[in-house]
Amino acid sequence: MAATKQRAGHRARKVKILATLGPASHSPDMIEALFRSGADAFRVNMSHGEHDTHAKTIEAIRKIEKKVKRPITILCDLQGPKLRVGQFKGGEALIRHGSHFTLDRDETLGDENRVFLPHPELFGILEKGDRLLVDDGKLRLRVLKAEKDSILTSAEVGGRISDRKGVNVPDAVVPLAALTKKDRADLSFALEHGADWIALSFVQRPEDVAEARRLIGGKAALISKIEKPSAVDRLEEILELSDAVMVARGDLGVEMAPEEVPPMQKNIVAAARRSGKPVVVATQMLESMISSPTPTRAEVSDVATAVYDGADAVMLSAETAAGDWPVEAVSIMDRIAIQVENDPGYGARVHFTETLPDETTADALAAASASIAQTVTVSSIVCFTMSGSTARRVTRERPSVPVLVLTPSIETGRRIGLLWGAHPVVTKDIGSFEEMVAKGKRMALRYSFGGAGDRCIIMAGVPFGTPGSTNVVHIVRLSGDELDGYDS
Ligand code: PGA
Ligand code: MN
Repeated sequence: MAATKQRAGHRARKVKILATLGPASHSPDMIEALFRSGADAFRVNMSHGEHDTHAKTIEAIRKIEKKVKRPITILCDLQGPKLRVGQFKGGEALIRHGSHFTLDRDETLGDENRVFLPHPELFGILEKGDRLLVDDGKLRLRVLKAEKDSILTSAEVGGRISDRKGVNVPDAVVPLAALTKKDRADLSFALEHGADWIALSFVQRPEDVAEARRLIGGKAALISKIEKPSAVDRLEEILELSDAVMVARGDLGVEMAPEEVPPMQKNIVAAARRSGKPVVVATQMLESMISSPTPTRAEVSDVATAVYDGADAVMLSAETAAGDWPVEAVSIMDRIAIQVENDPGYGARVHFTETLPDETTADALAAASASIAQTVTVSSIVCFTMSGSTARRVTRERPSVPVLVLTPSIETGRRIGLLWGAHPVVTKDIGSFEEMVAKGKRMALRYSFGGAGDRCIIMAGVPFGTPGSTNVVHIVRLSGDELDGYDS
C-alpha cells in the first residue's frame, strides 16, 4: 500500500481526531492551533459551561473554517440523564471507608453522613446490595436499606466527595427519559447554532434514539454514545437508528468491569463498521497528558489500537478541554495515527473486520473502487455526493488511497468530516458526465490528490443531484493541464 503523503490542505492520515473544547482551549487562537495540529472536529460539551460561551466557541470555529477554507465538524454533546448528588457544606465532604452514608430527599447541604439525591426515580428502584458508584467509580457505596425517602449505604470505598459529582447505578435499569429538560434546551441551542452532529449520552434503548431523531428533524446528524450495558445489549437496533456511535469508555468503564471494556470496544467498532456507520473511540486516550507534555507508553498503544481497528475517529476529552497541553495532545495523536497508517501491516489489520457490501448498486461500486485501487495504481478516489451516502459507503471499505469528497452542500461536507479517510471539499454542483470528469480531474489536481500522469477513480450518481443513485465508476488519467485556472 502506498505510504500516505502530506497533501495540500489535507491530512496525511485517514483516521480523524475529535478534540473536546473547554476552558483550556476555547479561545479562537487555541482552536486554530488545535486545528493546525490535526484536530478535524471539535466537541462542545453541553455538560459544562454556559450557552453564551458555547455560542462564542462555535462562532470562532466557523471563522477559522472560512480562513482555512475547509469544512470543520462541530459536535454538540448533550449531557443526557446523568445522575448526580446534590451539594455539600463547604463544597465537599470526606466519606470514610466502611462508614454509613445516606442519600435522601432533603435539599439542605450535605456532610460526611448524608447528601441530597435530586433524582426521585432512584428511590423506588434501588434494592439492597445494589452499587452506587460516585465520581467515575472512585467511591463505591453499597445499598443496605432502600426506603421511600432515603437510601442507607455502606461506603465500601470511601473518599472525598464534592458538589454534583456523578453517580452510576449499574445494577438497576433507571426509568429515565432519554432527554432531560436541560437536554431539550441545549438541543435547540445546538441546532440554532448550526451543530453538525448531536451526541446523545446515556442511551439505554433504541426508543431513546428514535425520540432524539424526531426532535433533531434532520437538522444535524445523530451520534449515540454507548456507555450503558443496556445500550450494548441492543447495539444493532441502536446502530440502525443512529448516524454514528461513540465508544464512551469513561462511563462504560464505570458501568462494567474495566476488563470487559476492550473486547466491548472491538465489538462495537466492528459492528459499526459492518453497518457503515462511523464510530468514535473516546475517553482517557492520552489521560496523563492533562498534566504532562508526554503520554505514557500504554496510552500511545491504546490510540494505536483504535487506529489499527479502523475506528473513524479518536477523541480527546479533558486532555484538550481542561489540560495543560492541548496542542501537544493533538499533535501526538496525529503522529501516532500517521505512524500506524504507514505500517505495512496496517492494511491487513484494518481489513480484519469484513465489511460485505449490501445488495445495492452503490455498495457494489464502492467495493469495486476499493478493489480497483488495490489492483491498479491510482492516487485517489474522487467521489461526488449530495447527501454524503456515497462517501459513507466508499470510506466504509477502508480503501488504500485517500478519498476526495466533492459536495455542493456545506452541511454534508461538515458532517462527513468525522468519517475515516474522507476529505470534504464544498464546490458547485455538476450537471453532466463531461463536467463530472473535468471537475473531478481539476479538483484532484488542485487539492493534490494526484499529479500529472496519475490515475484517479471518479464515482458519482447519474442523473446528478438524485440522492442514493451512485452508478458511475470511471477511471481517469490526470494530464496536468486540467488545472486551467477557471474556477469551480
Ligand atoms: P463524557 O462521555 O465525556 O460526556 O462522559 C464520554 C465517556 O463517557 O466516555
Ligand atoms: Mn459519558
